[in-house]
Amino acid sequence: MDGVILIGQQETREGNGFFQATDPSSGTLIEARFPEATADHVAAACALANVAFDEYAMLAPEKTAQFLETIAEEILAIGDDLIVNAMQESGLPRARLEGERGRTVGQLRLFAALVRKGEWLDARLDPALPDRQPMPRVELRSRKIAVGPVAVFGASNFPLAFSVAGGDTVAALAAGCPVVFKGHPAHPATGELVAKAIGRAVAKCGLPAGVFSYLPGTTHKLGGALAADPNIKAVGFTGSRAGGLALMRIAASRAEPIPVYAEMSAVNPVLLLPAKLAADAEALGKAFIASLTMGAGQFCTNPGLLLAIDGPDTDRFTASAAEALAGNAALTMLTPGIHAAYCKGVDALSAHASVRLVARGLVGEGPHQAQAALFETDAASFLADEALGAEIFGSTSLLVRCRDAEELKRILSKLEGQLTATLHMSAADEQLAAALMPLLVRKVGRILANGWPTGVEVSHAMVHGGPFPATSDGRSTSVGTMAIERFLRPVCFQDIADALLPEALKSANPLSLPLRVDGALK
Ligand code: NAP
Repeated sequence: MDGVILIGQQETREGNGFFQATDPSSGTLIEARFPEATADHVAAACALANVAFDEYAMLAPEKTAQFLETIAEEILAIGDDLIVNAMQESGLPRARLEGERGRTVGQLRLFAALVRKGEWLDARLDPALPDRQPMPRVELRSRKIAVGPVAVFGASNFPLAFSVAGGDTVAALAAGCPVVFKGHPAHPATGELVAKAIGRAVAKCGLPAGVFSYLPGTTHKLGGALAADPNIKAVGFTGSRAGGLALMRIAASRAEPIPVYAEMSAVNPVLLLPAKLAADAEALGKAFIASLTMGAGQFCTNPGLLLAIDGPDTDRFTASAAEALAGNAALTMLTPGIHAAYCKGVDALSAHASVRLVARGLVGEGPHQAQAALFETDAASFLADEALGAEIFGSTSLLVRCRDAEELKRILSKLEGQLTATLHMSAADEQLAAALMPLLVRKVGRILANGWPTGVEVSHAMVHGGPFPATSDGRSTSVGTMAIERFLRPVCFQDIADALLPEALKSANPLSLPLRVDGALK
């Protein structure tokens, strides 16, 4: 059965031909065919989203919350078909995908709870002061509203939690923005199952059809047309640096430029501080390899860079890591393209005159499997070649041996923006950690101690963001409830009669929202 393009509630197979996904574990094409959406579909979906906007943006929070919960139920109702398709299209194991489904559903429910509470509307009232001298004050009321229809591009590495009903989609829908989703070409069957689940939730909740559309396709042209469509008011993206940059350029050169929230590349430095390394080098080596190789290293938070002060404790660490790596089985990567890019990156490190191989994992037995690797270099060489700081998406990391803490700081200060930085430290390292903290705060979205950056909690205080190029805009997060902020803007109502005000701002407070009066929360 061929797949479909979803323009609101309308399904069509009439695209610009068909495409098929590849099963990365066999390297063969999967039988099902999916239509390539065209520029006309982009225009139709975006126009429909624009029609839906006014009603959807002003929906009572309770109704939006129910919609998000209904999406969660509809995703669960797909059953095992979702997991089976995602396994075939991504090469990821069942347990990982079942966990990801749980995360996707949990994320929808978390946002539903957030929407219900209403704090995100940030309702404010500065009452009129007619007798104020020397000038009376007008009455001012404000709230946040949705920015408009949002284009979302999902990532290949989380076919559920960062895809069709993933973080960006949920944050946009929670804010009141209709979503037009560009399907990822690597997992079209998985994407369509989830898109149809969202479509059923739209119908069940009696929402306007344009609240959600789904455009499968394999061309940059399709995604470019979506980012350029005048009805789109913001873009959410997770993927490659090249893709994120291309969409940023398109968005900035529109007649009406729009924000792009792109989560792109990071090497997530892990700092092994001296006292901790002296105490725990062997255990750290093993734990590091477990984090590096999980899911073939296909995480935006993968620890791609290690910094340590050179000496015998660092040698103990590398010996232990090498031992753990030697028995590490190669895992299938998500797509042939990602595998090819990984091999190219590893080959470049292998061939680099200043880089030494510490150890490699086992050679893969099937197609598209990542053979993990750990390399090392010295700080001077690292500082001399920017290319050594680039992300290799997969289970490869580079250890930089620094002469002293000053050299370690110099490296940190030269690094690009990062999603995370990790400190492995004990009490005796506290002084050094304190000295590093201002640099880390400048550079990253999340600083963690004595853990590993892989594993991102979906919660209220989580920040999965960071300065460029970790993201295109370090002022926000793509994971956790703060992500709703990306798709909101404030609107102020000055001396507007109660009858004309949105429900959220009417004097009687019919939605029982928290209200900030003269700056103080009531
Ligand atoms: P990707 O190639 O950037 O693709 C992500 C989405 O954006 C796809 O729907 C893709 O569709 C679209 N796209 C890419 N370039 C575009 C362009 N120039 N114009 C318009 N649309 C564009 O990412 P991916 O497929 O997930 O993985 C490829 C590489 O991305 C990996 O090797 C890795 O380096 C990086 N990656 C990073 C993260 C992260 O979290 N930071 C996650 C996953 C992957 P089309 O190809 O159909 O245009």
